[in-house]
Amino acid sequence: MTRRLFDGGRLVIASHNAGKLREIADLLAPFAVQAVSAGELGLPEPEETGETFIANAELKALASARGANLPALADDSGMSVDALDGAPGIYSARWAGPKKDFGYAMDKVWRAVQEKGVEPPFRAQFVCALSLAWPDGHVESFEGAVHGRLVWPQRGTYGFGYDPMFLPESEVGFGNRTFGEMPPQEKHAISHRAQAFRQLIDACFRR
Ligand code: IMP
Repeated sequence: MTRRLFDGGRLVIASHNAGKLREIADLLAPFAVQAVSAGELGLPEPEETGETFIANAELKALASARGANLPALADDSGMSVDALDGAPGIYSARWAGPKKDFGYAMDKVWRAVQEKGVEPPFRAQFVCALSLAWPDGHVESFEGAVHGRLVWPQRGTYGFGYDPMFLPESEVGFGNRTFGEMPPQEKHAISHRAQAFRQLIDACFRR
């Protein structure tokens, strides 16, 4: 499959989420990219009407690419819990309500799992779709996932969103640290976002 290469220069990061912006900036740091956020350019946040992570990443990337007349990178991600048939999934941000309160969202996830009456471990995965779009409508998309399990009470102050209740499988029986307890560089070595990012770099960036 022929992928379109990113030519360098300015790249819009089509997100208004501070946690994601920070992680994407870290991941882009080794590359010749002048990243500018959608917020800095005053671009609106489009409504996420897609039914998959990739559909939502594509619509956000395309809206920013067309709005800014520059290539744009969008992330759509979330946490899918097996016992909840994949919820909150693409609705992960919406479960936090208008105040974007992830303490509330984590509590809601934990209560929903308890109500199911299933036995631990409560398996879950983080999924991340990344889409790189150009103003002419061309889009390249990639998806990464990391498997783990839910823990309670939540632990750690690193990261964002649901990180403090997510124990990646690689930590089970070793450090037993949630993503919220892992410094950014360690999360970047295994995260769903980093996995999608590696595919994006291999396909669309010159080294
Ligand atoms: P959206 O992609 O803007 O719909 O938002 C995705 C939501 O999923 C975020 O607001 C977080 O709550 C959650 N999420 C995505 N990636 C991560 C992560 O790396 N750690 C913790 N939560 C995440």
